[in-house]
Amino acid sequence: MIQLYVPLNFLGVIYRELKQGLADLDKMFVLLEREREVADAPGARPLAVTQGRVRFENVSFAYESGGRPILHDLSFEIPPGRTVAVVGPSGAGKSTLARLLYRFYDVPAGAGRITVDGQDIREVTQASLRAAIGIVPQDTVLFNDTVAYNIGYGRPSATPAEIEGAARSAHIHDFIAGTPQGYATMVGERGLKLSGGEKQRVAIARTLLKNPPILIFDEATSALDSANERAIQAELQSAARGKTALVIAHRLSTVVDAHEIVVLEHGRVAERGSHAALLAHGGVYARMWQLQHAQGGAEGVAAHWAQSP
Ligand code: ATP
Repeated sequence: MIQLYVPLNFLGVIYRELKQGLADLDKMFVLLEREREVADAPGARPLAVTQGRVRFENVSFAYESGGRPILHDLSFEIPPGRTVAVVGPSGAGKSTLARLLYRFYDVPAGAGRITVDGQDIREVTQASLRAAIGIVPQDTVLFNDTVAYNIGYGRPSATPAEIEGAARSAHIHDFIAGTPQGYATMVGERGLKLSGGEKQRVAIARTLLKNPPILIFDEATSALDSANERAIQAELQSAARGKTALVIAHRLSTVVDAHEIVVLEHGRVAERGSHAALLAHGGVYARMWQLQHAQGGAEGVAAHWAQSP
């Protein structure tokens, strides 16, 4: 049954992608490529989430076998219900952590492991792992379908009232209600075009509806106006309450509140600790923080990492 389910589920993904037309072919190949990277191990069991403790244990990773190493012997833990923020310069490997946790790629044998409540994620079914994790990526891909479908995708059994509730919590309801066909409005390539911030709110609504115990947020670096940025920040924080969250952080508010901040440089942990501890340490994080304050900027850490030598 499980063996049958996986390919059918996979075909469903391809079908949905195909529905988006030729313009999305590139994306489909990317998806196929990713799907080929991981397969359920023979006899894989479903993941049993008890507390939601996530651990990266001595993880090393390269995208191609024998290729350029991206992560080097990386270890950190996200305790149940806590948020760990990962910061660092562009290319440091931050998004790679998210891709590995969601199993777009597998950590190779002998190169460490990622566990959820003690279970190696390579040994559980991909479907059960992904059911336990909600992702809000930087660039949300919307299906060429209705707004309701795009939000309800988080939980296909959701009622229209539940979809509207999630949209309200993600502060996108008023926008949707203002469109001519409301929740029946088509979005995507051939429908209503949404801004980056609106798309991210749809992804947040989708995740709220899914209500998974583990969250991955890849905060957008793109220039949202600051009111939008603050609103999205607040939504993300309320969605993360009581959940285990891995946040690829570009904004100081996320970083300040995180249980632990992991400063990643060239795929290695350069520094780690709470915001206060890192400031007291007076290292690279403290310098970035001071630089930001000296410039009076509140736009986020990402730009400052980018400027660092
Ligand atoms: P940013 O802040 O710019 O998003 P990041 O820290 O999230 O950067 P990653 O996206 O994790 O960085 O990428 C880490 C390194 O891995 C980069 O050098 C990137 O070029 C490389 N990389 C990312 N994806 C792939 C891929 N699919 N194949 C090969 N190399 C890749």
